Amino acid sequence: LAVTPTSVPSAPKPQPTQATIADNPATVAPTVKNDVVAQGSSALPEVALTFDDGPSMYTPQVLNILQQNSVHATFFCVGEWIQYYPSYVQQEYSAGNVVANHTWDHPDLTTLSSTDVQTQISKTSALIQQTIGVQPTLFRPPYGAINDSVKSQVAQMNLTPILWSIDTEDWTRPGSDAIVKAVLSQVGNGDVILMHDGGGDRSQTVAALPRIILGLQQRGLKLVTMPQLIQDMNAGTVAPTLN
Ligand code: ZN
Repeated sequence: LAVTPTSVPSAPKPQPTQATIADNPATVAPTVKNDVVAQGSSALPEVALTFDDGPSMYTPQVLNILQQNSVHATFFCVGEWIQYYPSYVQQEYSAGNVVANHTWDHPDLTTLSSTDVQTQISKTSALIQQTIGVQPTLFRPPYGAINDSVKSQVAQMNLTPILWSIDTEDWTRPGSDAIVKAVLSQVGNGDVILMHDGGGDRSQTVAALPRIILGLQQRGLKLVTMPQLIQDMNAGTVAPTLN
């Protein structure tokens, strides 16, 4: 029997900060460690799928769909759930996806002491290192809640804070059609798409995913991981697909 995840507290509507994008696409964005990244380049036809709050019993289905479509995503994992499903995190990594840090048990970090913030993040990075053999480089704050003091702690732990530019609100379970529409009705170059593979019943997210991938590809958008999106933004070009 799979362990049934308790619900991650439902999110107060996070307001992602607007991405800092150079007006002139030829200008290379400065690489500043504690700059929050919410979007890639508006000049490059690529987007990133991101999955938060896992791993969970839904993660294998998400991984199967990604693999069937030969695309990769970025998983912002919650430490306490990595304990229960380490093999899913290993499968994420071995399939070419990126495993990132989403705290130990999903608190609003802006309400915690700096010691507790440190513990939430470092304990999770250590477990990811222990699980897949590499340290995460990316961090997403629960609820998108971040302030200057959290930002500086994140930077000290060699993590780049990541938000998003398209919120599917899949965690509200609006139906798979609505989740598909949330993406395809507004998606464009450089978007970072927020979905969830944990924290509750994610069958609607799973049902929506093949149509989202197909729709993105039909719009000529390449699906890349967050590190790739950031690298290409900084380089100002899309890397060729290597096979
Ligand atoms: Zn979350």
